[in-house]
Amino acid sequence: MPVGTAATVKAMRPESVAETGAEILLGNTYHLMLRPTAERIAELGGLHRFMNWPKPILTDSGGFQVMSLAGRRKIDAEGVTFQSHIDGSRHRLTPARSIEIQHLLGSDVTMAFDECTPFPADHRTAAESMRLSMRWAADSRAAFRDRPGYALFGIVQGSVYDDLRRESAAALTGIGFDGYAIGGLAVGEGQAEMLRVLDVTAPLLPGDRPRYLMGVGKPADLVGAVRRGVDMFDCVLPTRSGRTGQALTRRGPVNVRNARHAADPRPLDPECGCPACTGYSRAYLHHLSKAEEILGPMLLTWHNLHYYQELMAGLREAIAKGELDAFAARFEAEQAAGDLPPL
Ligand SMILES: [Zn+2]
Repeated sequence: MPVGTAATVKAMRPESVAETGAEILLGNTYHLMLRPTAERIAELGGLHRFMNWPKPILTDSGGFQVMSLAGRRKIDAEGVTFQSHIDGSRHRLTPARSIEIQHLLGSDVTMAFDECTPFPADHRTAAESMRLSMRWAADSRAAFRDRPGYALFGIVQGSVYDDLRRESAAALTGIGFDGYAIGGLAVGEGQAEMLRVLDVTAPLLPGDRPRYLMGVGKPADLVGAVRRGVDMFDCVLPTRSGRTGQALTRRGPVNVRNARHAADPRPLDPECGCPACTGYSRAYLHHLSKAEEILGPMLLTWHNLHYYQELMAGLREAIAKGELDAFAARFEAEQAAGDLPPL
């Protein structure tokens, strides 16, 4: 899922996002509740209409962003009181309020309100945090209005502790959700530890429901997680990197600001079918970036989203053909080969 934090995937028109192959976007409850507010969006016909994205939207619960407002938020048993990063105004999020906001936005996939356990956390802290999230998961389930075509996902927490991940997965499957997310990863534990936690956690979640790894990740993270049974991801990496001159390609990351591209007439990735690669040279992308032209972030964001969608489509096809291991081996070999040698 491309990330459309403030009701826009930055530097992209929604039609262009759809052209990359994206079938669903992520919107952020925290940002939208503060500006322009969920009530305003509801009055204007909901988030799909507001941002002109007719396909599905998943919204996060606001928990992750609120928890990261260090010094400006206070957690209690019922929810979180916090100050807006925009104007300092005070707000409160509870499971019921988060679900209500997501309902006002018209979200197709609503996420349960949880606390993303900070990393590192000792076992006791992680256990308390996870159990709070499990209470909030039950509150979220109770507040959610079930209706055909709309889904509510629970979020497994438990940091890097296998027993806590098991307890959390059991609690959530006991409540019953339409899909299950794995939260609290990609927060500094490193890829090897993340994949180890997935080895433990993914098999605990029902095979007939989507599994969603939140906030991940680099292309290699996606491949590693899909091999462990994960179906869905969101990450700001392709869009954020696109705005800082970094392209993510089948041959690894390429920084177009690097002087070695200044006179290079070749496309970013000769095998890519995106507008940035079919219409423009590395030299031009380099020039746009150095001149800080708006088209630079637009083209690189388009390429990065296209690459991510193509990677996921390739993984889906490989699974259907029973060739996932071969796909992963080819992916790793291409990434290891590195960028095109200089001319
Ligand atoms: Zn491209």
